[in-house]
Amino acid sequence: MNTHTRPTNILSFDVEHWYSATLLCDSVEESVDRIHESTDLVLDILRRHDVAATFFVVGELAETHPGLVRKIANEGHEIASHGQTHTPIFDLNPGSFEGELSASADALEWACGERPVGFRAPNFSVTRGTEWALDVLKSSDYVYDSSIFPMRTPMYGVSKGSLRPYLVSPDRPFEPTTDTTTAESRLVEYPVAVTDTPLRLPVAGGFYARLLPIELLEWGIRRLNRRGIPATVYFHPWEFNPNVPIPTPSFTNRFISFHGIDRTAAKLERLLQTFEFGTHASDLATRGWRELTPELPTSE
Ligand SMILES: [Zn+2]
Repeated sequence: MNTHTRPTNILSFDVEHWYSATLLCDSVEESVDRIHESTDLVLDILRRHDVAATFFVVGELAETHPGLVRKIANEGHEIASHGQTHTPIFDLNPGSFEGELSASADALEWACGERPVGFRAPNFSVTRGTEWALDVLKSSDYVYDSSIFPMRTPMYGVSKGSLRPYLVSPDRPFEPTTDTTTAESRLVEYPVAVTDTPLRLPVAGGFYARLLPIELLEWGIRRLNRRGIPATVYFHPWEFNPNVPIPTPSFTNRFISFHGIDRTAAKLERLLQTFEFGTHASDLATRGWRELTPELPTSE
């Protein structure tokens, strides 16, 4: 499945209820549980393309749907943490974030038998001002993070952040360090994919993948790959489910949350045909950073 030739891109899914999308939280009164249905649609596509992906799962969801987590893991995918309660780091402090990390690791381990080593913050909420989260991740035995959106958007992001996966330095958390020897640099950051053009353009997935033409996504990923940079791409299972009931919040929020939902599957299928994809864990294993991560689970 993984040929060990660079760059294999990284495919991930943030597993949460569709109504967890932050823009919708306040406007959904009745929540319909579609998570099994949505995840099955994704698993089906991955099975057909023989691709393993990383699933960042909300801990609370693992507690109520352990069978779902087991099913994902049994199909050869990597399970990682998307927090315990889907609370953005902006609304946490180091103590409560530590609690989120250990509770979600416990919940995921309980559900599928393996402790996660990776984390993605809700809303890409590791930005300037919340960089302390990276220290907490390190001290909580997480091995990698994929929470940085390396361009500034109205809601999140780090302007001019590194496009390339890197070892996090204690002093300058948003810049790659070349020092791979110190114990302090044991956290690997996987920024999500934005283009390397002077005006950066997000090609990472989610809303952007639904909005932008597939040709543009492919062009952006190809540019990164040419420089030896794997593209970290993300989706949410609910983005593949046309049965998700569309609530009626403001037009803008509805647009961001649901625009293009009928074409997500076709876009993912085309990306899987064009590029090679794998998990964060398998990427880590090919980087020779594995000695930093003795307990890394094998996902293949
Ligand atoms: Zn999320």
